[in-house]
Amino acid sequence: MLSPTTLFPTIQVGDNTQPGEEHNVSTRPIHFQKTTTHNKPMHFQYLIIHCTATPAGRWVSPEDVKRWHTAPIPYGNGWKQVGYSDLILLDGSRHQFVKHNNDLTIDPFEITNGVAGINSISRHLCYVGGLDKTFHKAQDTRTLQQIETMLTIIHEVLTYAPNIKIAGHNQFANKACPSFFVPTWLKQLGIPEHTIEWRNLFR
Ligand SMILES: [Zn+2]
Repeated sequence: MLSPTTLFPTIQVGDNTQPGEEHNVSTRPIHFQKTTTHNKPMHFQYLIIHCTATPAGRWVSPEDVKRWHTAPIPYGNGWKQVGYSDLILLDGSRHQFVKHNNDLTIDPFEITNGVAGINSISRHLCYVGGLDKTFHKAQDTRTLQQIETMLTIIHEVLTYAPNIKIAGHNQFANKACPSFFVPTWLKQLGIPEHTIEWRNLFR
């Protein structure tokens, strides 16, 4: 896939980037915060998009995801909290694991376990899918209904937090999740430029 800087050479990558620094991604500060060391509201900074890493067309329920994340090891990850606030099912319906009070902070009760290091400043949104039918290859398997719901949620979040940045899990961890490059997709949709996070630590 073409990199975003190839597609959009004039775009500045990240908010602190100066012209000519586009390839110097790793030197920019991330301001990682441990989620376990505070119990006060934190400034809402990122909407992170994920996939369940399940094959195209396979039905996955909210209960499945909750079990994978919170059941004790070896049955699940043994986490105290599920990984995402919102899950978009195959048919486009939306399940909210965690209700947000839709303001500019992430309260302790709103924290979900999507990306180690930035959970206390992030909201996590996940669609069901992300692998091809053989279960081997990362693939953008979003159905039209899922894309519609994803856009609805993005718009909803931007309504109350218009200056957050939107990114994919794969921009913060060495993973394929969510099986597409979020900034390119957002750019094509005309999402406000300042809300697109181009940081890509693992390209
Ligand atoms: Zn993920």
